[in-house]
Amino acid sequence: MTDDLGGGNPRGLHFITDLANTVRDDPEAEAADLQAVLARHGGPPFRLTDADACELRAATSHLIRILTMHDEDEAAEAINTLLDRYPARPRLVRLPGRPWSLHTQAPPTADLTHWLLSTAALALGLWLSERGSCAWGQCGAAGCDRFFIDAGRRTPQRFCTPRCATRARVAAHRAHRTLG
Ligand SMILES: [Zn+2]
Repeated sequence: MTDDLGGGNPRGLHFITDLANTVRDDPEAEAADLQAVLARHGGPPFRLTDADACELRAATSHLIRILTMHDEDEAAEAINTLLDRYPARPRLVRLPGRPWSLHTQAPPTADLTHWLLSTAALALGLWLSERGSCAWGQCGAAGCDRFFIDAGRRTPQRFCTPRCATRARVAAHRAHRTLG
């Protein structure tokens, strides 16, 4: 996972939504599926066993719960609970050619759950504090429901991708014509 928590760069958050969507789409997602998510986001080269996959799915359910929240007070409390239980160790890291950015480093003895939830809780917490609201959501297009990070600055995002937005617009237009 790219655990770059630099302000305004929600890349770590896209890992979280990708993982949440994978587990939401398939609650029995196997080690290879989850391994692919880690690889897509430049994650540490874990070789996930079936037991790891089971652990990761259970840990992801905590993140899914937070991503379904719209009330920032409720979300902050849930994130704080994770930060208490899985403390993150923030560090400023400078990658070649990049500005200093805040990363987390799980303790050397941390298991997968601790690694995921400490990193994710800090990423979500920084995002919530920067945006002042639950700047994430679930796609409003029929039959989609995928989680997304709302990185927009103006109107709240309602769909996971421009593709779903178009699909919903076309459907609404058709429904309107049928009614008319
Ligand atoms: Zn969608």
